[in-house]
Amino acid sequence: MKEKALKLFYEGKVRKEFETPERIHFTVSSSTDYPVIYDKKKGWSCSCKSFSIKGIDCAHIQACKLYLQNSTIENLSKKEKERTKRAFLNLKLINEKGKDLLNYAKSYYDDANYFLSKGLYIEAFELYSYVWGILDSLARLNYIDPGKSKKDFKVDQD
Ligand SMILES: [Zn+2]
Repeated sequence: MKEKALKLFYEGKVRKEFETPERIHFTVSSSTDYPVIYDKKKGWSCSCKSFSIKGIDCAHIQACKLYLQNSTIENLSKKEKERTKRAFLNLKLINEKGKDLLNYAKSYYDDANYFLSKGLYIEAFELYSYVWGILDSLARLNYIDPGKSKKDFKVDQD
């Protein structure tokens, strides 16, 4: 069941139709089109036999769950990209000792952007976090000045 769900998701068979404050409506195109509804109070339902007979999450519902998880991590990664981009624009190297590490951070940032462009959102998100680990350390050591991005850094505010 899980494999079928993964296949449906990765082959782009899940379509989000529309969302209301109470529900999200999907269509999953398998052998035929299956409308899947996520009701924020009542939970998931699908029009297929498997769901109506057994009452358990069918592959269509599982595929829609994957779709939702993926769009959440997609949004998070895109936000991290913006935050990191701002940081690189605003920061200034103030101690040459930090130069190598800053270059590492920049190349990891480029890799993260590459993953993001390929739809590999988890990989991208992990790399942005890694870049931030380096940037925060550089700021704490006073090797860089975050400038206008200071609020995005985990350093003491003065
Ligand atoms: Zn189903």
